[in-house]
Amino acid sequence: MDKKLRVIVENCPQNHPCPSIRVCPVEALSQEGFQAPAVDHNKCIRCGKCAKFCPKKALVLE
Ligand code: SF4
Repeated sequence: MDKKLRVIVENCPQNHPCPSIRVCPVEALSQEGFQAPAVDHNKCIRCGKCAKFCPKKALVLE
């Protein structure tokens, strides 16, 4: 079964620019203000880079 990137909003402190946005190779992540990032599932290639990068484990491939 295909994995899907999930944003665990409770894990995101939502007080900073999301650093994982920069590591996404296809610009599938976006952020409004300091909110938890949003995933564009049509763009996401499920590479897992953002999930590895997020220190709060707010992005999970599952
Ligand atoms: S899994 Fe990869 S392609 Fe998908 S949002 Fe994260 S970094 Fe971008």
